[in-house]
Amino acid sequence: MAYQNPHLAETAENLKQQFKELDHKPDILKAVELKALFDELKTLPPAERAGFGKEANQLRAELEQMVADHQSQTVSLAPIDITAPFDINVPVDQRPKTLPAELGSQHPLMTELYKVLSIFNRMGFAAVESREVDDDYHMFTSLNFPEGHPARDDYDTFMTTQTDANGKPLIAPAHTSTMQNRVLKQFKGNLEAGGSIAVVIPGRVFRNEDLDARHEHTFYQLEGVYVGRGINAGHLIATLKTFLQTYYGQALEVKTQPFYFPFTEPSFEFALSCPFCQKKGCAVCSQSGWIELLGCGMIHPNVLREAGIDPEIYTGFAWGGGIDRLVMMKYDIEDIRHFEAGKLDFLRQFS
Ligand SMILES: [Zn+2]
Repeated sequence: MAYQNPHLAETAENLKQQFKELDHKPDILKAVELKALFDELKTLPPAERAGFGKEANQLRAELEQMVADHQSQTVSLAPIDITAPFDINVPVDQRPKTLPAELGSQHPLMTELYKVLSIFNRMGFAAVESREVDDDYHMFTSLNFPEGHPARDDYDTFMTTQTDANGKPLIAPAHTSTMQNRVLKQFKGNLEAGGSIAVVIPGRVFRNEDLDARHEHTFYQLEGVYVGRGINAGHLIATLKTFLQTYYGQALEVKTQPFYFPFTEPSFEFALSCPFCQKKGCAVCSQSGWIELLGCGMIHPNVLREAGIDPEIYTGFAWGGGIDRLVMMKYDIEDIRHFEAGKLDFLRQFS
């Protein structure tokens, strides 16, 4: 395309040359020279503005087309026989070509999880990832669900046919609390050094659920564990409230109501005032003005004891809540199943 304005024509040539040399072609659209044209436009006398603006827009459209053409070329790849064994010894340049990473984007749950972890990191929490296969001890026994405890039946878990050293089936964890015993033991030294244990645990969890817009068999949870001297439920509520207000960027009210978990005593269900309607009632909060968000409580003395921590000296709190739910509320996503569906039209809205 020929440009009448000599300055614009020169910039166009320059940008096309840059485009050829770029590894990541879409970066051309962020070039400072392109932005400078639009800055210059604002300074022009009104008589020149229309002509210059039209050509600047043409140039941007041309560059966008070049990026799109490049991407459509790179995706026309030879089909790969996915049933054929892959030979790791084949030199890199002779291996089957896969889609370039620049065509992908981060999953919205991961983007949001990093924001969540960053908030807790600033509040002094370390992060430890949970496991996707665990054993009966960490799923139940270490959390004060002894053998035969009726609350074990509340968790409709997936199990493997393979068994652990005690002959029990391995479990796809139904909650991230499976990590409590491990992090308590791992960070126990902090207590002995006069400090506290402060850990958040993100992880993928699995439940044998009937699927609908609010229930998915696979989702993400964030567990939190805090132990120190003189810790009480006030600290728990303040920690969660501070996090939620930072994440949603607005003042919120919170409330708790009694609940039951074997591994916390007392246990609470934690609700926040609806961030969408300021408690007036809307579809998101089912007209109640409140959203029940997660389960929490003071860590049961038996759970501390099981990790070798003296509950007479130290107390602590723990919570566990769904990350999917948090993100659905933030972006008004109506169906939890979108996250695992791999639908590009959904995912591209977040890229
Ligand atoms: Zn509402």
